[in-house]
Amino acid sequence: MRARATRLAHMGRPASGWANTPIVKGSTYLFDSLEQWRDARRQRETQRVLSYGARGNETVYALEDAITELEGGHRSKLFPTGLAAIAATLLACLKTGDHVLISEGVYEPVRRLCATQLVHYGISHSFFSARDAGWQRHLRPETRMVYAESPSSLLYDMLDLPAIAQACRARGIVLCADNTWGSGLACRPLALGCDISVVAATKYLGGHSDVMMGSVTTTGAHFDAIENVSVNLGQTVAAEDAFLVLRGLRTLELRMQRHAQSALDIAVWLAGQPAIRTVFHPALPGDPNHALWRRDTQGSNGLLTVEFDPALPAAAVEAAIGRLQLFGIGSSWGGYESLVLPVDVARTRLAGQAAPPGYLLRLHIGLEDPADLRQDLGALLDALPDLSQQQAIA
Ligand SMILES: *Cc1c(COP(=O)(O)O)cnc(C)c1O
Repeated sequence: MRARATRLAHMGRPASGWANTPIVKGSTYLFDSLEQWRDARRQRETQRVLSYGARGNETVYALEDAITELEGGHRSKLFPTGLAAIAATLLACLKTGDHVLISEGVYEPVRRLCATQLVHYGISHSFFSARDAGWQRHLRPETRMVYAESPSSLLYDMLDLPAIAQACRARGIVLCADNTWGSGLACRPLALGCDISVVAATKYLGGHSDVMMGSVTTTGAHFDAIENVSVNLGQTVAAEDAFLVLRGLRTLELRMQRHAQSALDIAVWLAGQPAIRTVFHPALPGDPNHALWRRDTQGSNGLLTVEFDPALPAAAVEAAIGRLQLFGIGSSWGGYESLVLPVDVARTRLAGQAAPPGYLLRLHIGLEDPADLRQDLGALLDALPDLSQQQAIA
C-alpha cells in the first residue's frame, strides 16, 4: 500500500477531469423515466445511488470515500457535527432496555446526551476507567455497546482498545471509538478491532476552524444501522462543507506532523518549568500513556494539558493567561491556530484525588512557529507570582 501522504493527495478525487471534486448543489435529482426512478429507489436501500439531495451527492460521496479509506472501513456516513455523528451512532446501536458502557474522560457532551436524552428512551449508561484492569465487571447482560475515547479528552488517557475489542467480540457487544484525537491519521480504531469509528471532522480533517462536520465509519456489519438513522432523522451535510473538509484532508499529514512536533517541543519545555507540575501529552516520554501510545498510534497531535503547581491560586494563573497574545481563548481545536481553555477539574478523574490538583489548562498548539509560541507562554509564566513565596503561604 502506498504511503499515507501519497494517498491523501489522491483519495476522493474525480477519476478524470477536475483535479478537485466540484461542489454539487441540489435537492431534486431528475430521472429519464419512471422505471429508472423506481430502480434508483430500490437500489438505494442497499447501495449508494443518486436519488435525492438529502442522501448525498458527488461531493459528499467523495468525502465519504476519502474518510473510509483513511479509517480503513467499509463505508462512512457524514453528519453536520461530530456530536451529531455520535448521537446517530448511539441511536443506531441502542434500543430501550440496552446499556452502553462509556470510558471515563469522554467528550463531555456525550455524558449530557446520555443523561438527558437517551434516558428518556430507556437506554442506560455507566462509565469505566482506563486504569481499571477489572473494567469488564461493569459489563451487564444488557450491555450492547462499549463507547471508548482513546486518548481521552482533556488528559489523553489511553485504553487498550485491542483487549477491549476482544472482550466485546466474545460477548457480541459493539465497540465504538471516538477517533477525533487521531483523526484517521494518528490512530485507526477499526484496525485495532473496533466496529465503528467516529471523528469530529470539525477538528483536524477540516483543519482551518471554518467548518463543522462529523463522520461515522464502520465495518460491513454496522453500516446499514447508521445509514438508517441518517435517513430517518434527515441528517445531511452541505456540499460546500464536504468540499472544505476534502480540501483540509490534502494537507492533513503535513499539518499533523507540524502540530505534533511543535506540541512535543513545547511539552518538553513546559515540563521543565518550575510553575508546571504535570504535562499531559501521550507522546511525551514519561507520560503514563506513552507505552500504549507507542504501540497503538502512528503519531500525535497539537493537544496538551498542563497542571500548574497547586500552590498557585487560580486567580493568579488566570491573570497570567491574560498576557497571552498568540493563543486564542475558545472552544474546539484542530485548526491552524493555537488555543487555550481552562479545564474544569471536576470533569476529570483528578477530581477523585485526595489532594486537589493545580489549575488545569488545555493548550492546542497551532501551526505558528514554536519559538514564538514558547515566548508567548514564557510571558504567561513570567507573570505568575513567585512560587517559593506562594509555597511558603500555602
Ligand atoms: C469536538 C469533539 C467532538 C464533537 O465535535 P463537534 O463537531 O464540535 O460536534 C466529539 N468528540 C471529541 C473527542 C471532540 O473533541
